[in-house]
Amino acid sequence: MTASQSARQAATSGKPKLAFRPLPVPQVDVRGFWGDRVDAVATRTAGILYDRCVEARMLEQIDPDRPSPGVVIPFHSPSPDEAASPGAEFTGSTVTTQMFWDSDWGKTIETAAYSLYRRRNDDLEKKIDAVIDIYGKLQQPDGYLSSWYQRIQPGLRWTNLRDCHELYCAGHLIEGAVAYYQATGKRKLLDIMCRYADHIAQTFGPEPGKRKGYCGHEEIELALVKLARVTGEKKYMDLAKYFIDQRGLEPHYFDEEARARGADPKAYHFKTYEYSQSHRPVREQDKVVGHAVRAMYLYSGMADIATEYGDDTLRVALDRLWDDLTTKNLYITGGIGPSSHNEGFTADYDLPNETAYAETCASVGLVFWASRMLGMGPNARYADMMERALYNGSISGLSLDGSLFFYENPLESRGKHNRWKWHRCPCCPPNIGRMVASIGSYFYGLSDDALAVHLYGNGTARFDIAGRQIELTQASNYPWDGAVSMTVEPEAPTEFTLHLRLPAWCRKAALKVNGEAVDLDAVTSDGYAAIRREWRKGDRVELDLEMAVDRLYANPQVRQDIGRVALARGPLIYCVEETDNAGQLHRIALPRTAQIEAHEQPNLLGGVVTLSAVAKKEAFENWEDGLYRPEPPAVEETKVTAVPYFAWDNRDPGEMLVWLRDL
Ligand SMILES: [Zn+2]
Repeated sequence: MTASQSARQAATSGKPKLAFRPLPVPQVDVRGFWGDRVDAVATRTAGILYDRCVEARMLEQIDPDRPSPGVVIPFHSPSPDEAASPGAEFTGSTVTTQMFWDSDWGKTIETAAYSLYRRRNDDLEKKIDAVIDIYGKLQQPDGYLSSWYQRIQPGLRWTNLRDCHELYCAGHLIEGAVAYYQATGKRKLLDIMCRYADHIAQTFGPEPGKRKGYCGHEEIELALVKLARVTGEKKYMDLAKYFIDQRGLEPHYFDEEARARGADPKAYHFKTYEYSQSHRPVREQDKVVGHAVRAMYLYSGMADIATEYGDDTLRVALDRLWDDLTTKNLYITGGIGPSSHNEGFTADYDLPNETAYAETCASVGLVFWASRMLGMGPNARYADMMERALYNGSISGLSLDGSLFFYENPLESRGKHNRWKWHRCPCCPPNIGRMVASIGSYFYGLSDDALAVHLYGNGTARFDIAGRQIELTQASNYPWDGAVSMTVEPEAPTEFTLHLRLPAWCRKAALKVNGEAVDLDAVTSDGYAAIRREWRKGDRVELDLEMAVDRLYANPQVRQDIGRVALARGPLIYCVEETDNAGQLHRIALPRTAQIEAHEQPNLLGGVVTLSAVAKKEAFENWEDGLYRPEPPAVEETKVTAVPYFAWDNRDPGEMLVWLRDL
């Protein structure tokens, strides 16, 4: 069977083709490291997101019973093209309103939904129900639903898909609806969003008379896949595929759409459609370009469609893009998108540290993409990167107590980059909130007769294989220690394969099943050890992943990192902070001979392992008033202490540095 035949067959059978599905959030209880993070989101972040959306006056925008902020206090009424400039907003005397606020509600609802699994919260649930009631009132009889186009720019719906986030907002509300339905059993928002998705399907598609467009900010694609999976309605999957297939075709929809609203297509703020990955058809793309979050959401949707339709042409494109990202355009923290100008990618190996944009949402998006690539089967190529982004560049965006946020995640700071309560473009807080609150679903992949363990950590997973219930418990102090002990408890003996990831950072791993050593070379492929056997109650798997301290170097083509070294231990990238090392971190140099010691610090930053070493530091004493002189500065010894990057800026504000000078 050719790839296109199999794609057609898959597409027409209507059955999901996901080889390895993530476990639903409530089937995985996480404890330990991730348990603490989820608790912070469930007890603090979820409520904070709601409160700050209200404080930002987002309820006024969506509630048809209240005066519309953009109508009552008209200050400036931009054309759709003006409104598309970055950070576009209407500012009245007291009100600022944004075109993407529906998406912030969508993600806030999603975060609340996952948090309710962790901890019942009647007050929060009531508040979310009330928001959903408002959306119910706002929805138009034909199913259309957009607070921006109904309340702020009426009469202009579907006139500027390129810039105005219309389908993007629909996508986030769909994701919120799916999660809220799964968490509470309440269908109201799901039904609202099905009606809206039906309206979108009547408006867009290959049939004559329908619009041939797609959103400038991808998101609707992956959301429609979720909607299709939860409702069993294949039409939503087909619509997701349509948006992906249509992207970048000529004549270009965004050109035609601009002309239709009387605008010059060339008068485009971002100049190139690379910004929205619509510069060419997705199957011909081979470079990660443009806005980083958009790129990650597109590739996530492509991965879903590749899996659902068995579409190898998408898979091949995704692998090219994956290579391009991970070998030339990725920060060591799993951050992506160095530039604030396009919130995205620039040139290969351009990875400035202090000005790194590395938006929290972009690393979250990388986690989404990687986890979907794992739907095609266990492969450490994707899981290692998912882990890198999870433990570093994404959760750095949330303070340890769950109350403060980063938008940018630089790898160097002179002390002025500090966490904030809220942002006028508040995309990141609910994005990191929903990812952390649903972390259990990233741990495992389940197929008909196999379970893949992608992530390690204290916790319990429940799943069914061959109609039998199985419980798998991990006991581990991961990521501080690489010893993982698992017990498998099937209700009756059950044969299946257990795939265990052997992380690339681990140079020496050992595996025992019921005390018997397993020859890892014989059972490992694509970075996963596969153990197939009839599992019985009480079976025990012990995986020992040696967790050494690593000195990591960047490809010399990265000009900003040449002559520098970063410290890592297990999945964690480390940084030095002023509060542990005094200021002027640029003066520190780490000799290659330095012994780097790891120390457990249960009372520091919620319990971390720090790294310390004796380093060198240029002295500026005896320099007097001079700026330059022929003699080099004296060098003195200094103790350097490094903490995990994700935990930085949770104490006294100050300088921070990931890449130290290498001596
Ligand atoms: Zn963001």
